[in-house]
Amino acid sequence: MKKKVLVVEDNDQNRYLVRFILEDQGFDVHEVETGAKALEAVKDVNPDLILLDIQLPDMDGYEIAAALREGGHVDETPIIAVTSYAMPGDREKVLDAGCTGYIEKPIEPSAFAAEVARTLGDNGSIEGEV
Ligand code: MN
Repeated sequence: MKKKVLVVEDNDQNRYLVRFILEDQGFDVHEVETGAKALEAVKDVNPDLILLDIQLPDMDGYEIAAALREGGHVDETPIIAVTSYAMPGDREKVLDAGCTGYIEKPIEPSAFAAEVARTLGDNGSIEGEV
């Protein structure tokens, strides 16, 4: 059984790249383009990990992270913020909003894969697969 990742990202190229990296790691990838869809999708997908773009058309990632935590569906699910902003204090801001980690854009595939693996403690397979 594959672990599920919900990717919240409005940019087509970034979604394509992230899907490519995650599928290569063995994950089952689900994608949405807006915050509103993310809040719905967590209930259906029940993801093991959420990757959250901070700049989205309808809500910013901080609002979405806070809403996800308040919604009660993702109490323990790690949320990794993915953002092109790298200002001092940004890491604290995403952690305060309920995110568990932080990846900077532009996405660098090996660093991205390493952060995902580190967050989940392993690769995309839940158990027993070699
Ligand atoms: Mn964006």
